[in-house]
Amino acid sequence: MSDVQTIGILGGGQLGRMLSVAASRLGLRCHIFEPGAAPAGDVAWRVTTAPYEDEAALRAFAESVDVITYEFENVPTTTLDLLESIRPIRPNRRALAVSQDRLTEKTFLNDIGLATAPFADVPAETDLDAAVARIGRPSILKTRRMGYDGKGQVRIGGGPAEWTGAPSVLEGFVDFSAEISVIIARGADGQVAAFDPGLNVHEGGILRTTTVPCGLPGKITTDAVLIAARIANALDYVGVMGVELFVTPQGLIVNEIAPRVHNSGHWTQAGCAVDQFEQHVRAVAGLPLGDGKRHADVVMENLIGDDLDRVPDLLKSPKTQVHLYGKGTPRPGRKMGHVNRITG
Ligand code: AMP
Repeated sequence: MSDVQTIGILGGGQLGRMLSVAASRLGLRCHIFEPGAAPAGDVAWRVTTAPYEDEAALRAFAESVDVITYEFENVPTTTLDLLESIRPIRPNRRALAVSQDRLTEKTFLNDIGLATAPFADVPAETDLDAAVARIGRPSILKTRRMGYDGKGQVRIGGGPAEWTGAPSVLEGFVDFSAEISVIIARGADGQVAAFDPGLNVHEGGILRTTTVPCGLPGKITTDAVLIAARIANALDYVGVMGVELFVTPQGLIVNEIAPRVHNSGHWTQAGCAVDQFEQHVRAVAGLPLGDGKRHADVVMENLIGDDLDRVPDLLKSPKTQVHLYGKGTPRPGRKMGHVNRITG
């Protein structure tokens, strides 16, 4: 067995919450570090509420745990430097550096032979016209850092190109037939376990549903898993990673990498013996990975904002798991929970 008893988690949102539950089932404790409100705190051993710049709090947090992981990728570099001088961070810094910055991410993916949307670096507004001339229209301007759920993005159509306000990349518009994602786990020994690719539907830039099986031919799903495994190996990755892909007539294009458990992997809670949260805990704690095989067909639906009103009915639905995040007041666009419906 591993020496890890306590896992430190940077970020206290729903992903940290579900990681803490999974860790507790394996007899492990979680310590959450979160500057703001922490739904994960309700189910964790300890919570530290402090800014990422609070060195004393970071030190005490790191010293109280055996290994540090994270549930979101935008932790400041100086925070990571301090923490890493005290305890190991898994997944490693390279995985974070690559996924924190869309330009670094796309360059890395191309370097390991994987296709991305065509892109151009747009450091400042004055570089935008040249980038549009090179990439063409339609295209999407995305901030290099801190974008999620479609935030920090501007579509460039026929009219004048709007600026995002921060260093960005311009991406050519990909005419995809479907969006899929692979959730893959890699252990410290290099063992890999992938979950079946899921079909993702977004609304307003936010994930709405993930469906497994995804209904695509085996050649595509196998390629998707091989791509995810190539990324995990190239990063010497330890933990669970989400890889979002566009399906196009020319093949698969990688949209982005999330170095953490991922919303499109929530279906694994109802579809697999060992879900993505437990798999991540096992990997970062140095335990053997579980079996990623799917034993059911599942549709995961996010409960966003006022969807919470549907909970009384959902609780009465057959073959339906309801997961609520304990976030208090719903707001438009806020992920309040999700349901996993077993469909076969
Ligand atoms: P992202 O934040 O990069 O995951 O983008 C959010 C969503 O916008 C994606 O899930 C796609 O539906 C869409 N999108 C992003 N980039 C592109 C692209 N280059 N071409 C077409 N659609 C895109």
